[in-house]
Amino acid sequence: SKKKKKKTIKEKDGKKPVAYVRPLSLFSQLSARYGVRKRLVRNVQEQGYDTPTEIQLAGLPLLLGEALAQDGGENVTGPVDLLAVAPTGSGKTLAFLIPVIHGLLKKKAERNGPRALVLAPTKELANQIVNECRKLALGTGIKVTLIKKGMRVGADGISLDLHEGSDEDSNEEEEEDKDESMPTTVKSDIIVATPMALVHALERKAQIATLPSVEYLVLDEADVLLDPLFQDQTLSIWNSCTHPNMRTSLWSATMASSIETLALSTIKERADDSITPTAI
Ligand code: ADP
Ligand code: MG
Repeated sequence: SKKKKKKTIKEKDGKKPVAYVRPLSLFSQLSARYGVRKRLVRNVQEQGYDTPTEIQLAGLPLLLGEALAQDGGENVTGPVDLLAVAPTGSGKTLAFLIPVIHGLLKKKAERNGPRALVLAPTKELANQIVNECRKLALGTGIKVTLIKKGMRVGADGISLDLHEGSDEDSNEEEEEDKDESMPTTVKSDIIVATPMALVHALERKAQIATLPSVEYLVLDEADVLLDPLFQDQTLSIWNSCTHPNMRTSLWSATMASSIETLALSTIKERADDSITPTAI
């Protein structure tokens, strides 16, 4: 193969930059290469997985902070946002959960609110992601919460809307505020939700609360989350995540070009110079 000299990974001639990674051949390499906590690696292995799938062997190095420029020698500095397309059943869930859990373990929380948000189009899928995530986070102290109807999500944590579903039609928020004896707000590190459930949980008097604490945003089945049915909700949630260094990754089995364009332009809108957009 022909080698080209000193290519950087910056956008060139309006073309999307391409990053190369040193593929991960075994999950056991995660600790030595990226400093992933042994417990997390063990939690992966205890599910019977030793060898990463294709999307995992490429995606994990990228998201764990190692990408090589085209000459193969130069590390890309800084974290990446990622749009990953890989077939159904190829293990995308693990590919996005490992870097999120690792990222949270590596750094202390800045705030009380959720530090990672995973959006999925259906309740069933959201539930599966929570189960998978809890297995991976076992013994790490990381809390994972499925957002359900009746929960309120805010910058300081998650609370239960005690009046949700009840017949009383009173002034909910004021009453909740008055009750100081009951600890109603709980901390959760990772929240998983459908757009519908989360918009509901974020609604405050016809507005959506911001989520400044979210450092990692994952859109699973991003093609569905960005199709016309969910698009408005997904984008308003995305925009409510105001952390300046938030990392976003989108995962899908298919990606229509219109949706890819929307995804990339939304990522770009938020991007500062430290972000290297990457396609694999
Ligand atoms: P996708 O989201 O790409 O459709 P999933 O994340 O749902 O795929 O994974 C599909 C199945 O493959 C799941 O049962 C998952 O536990 C399993 N799996 C994931 N990674 C591996 C791996 N490295 N080796 C073997 N099985 C795996
Ligand atoms: Mg999936």
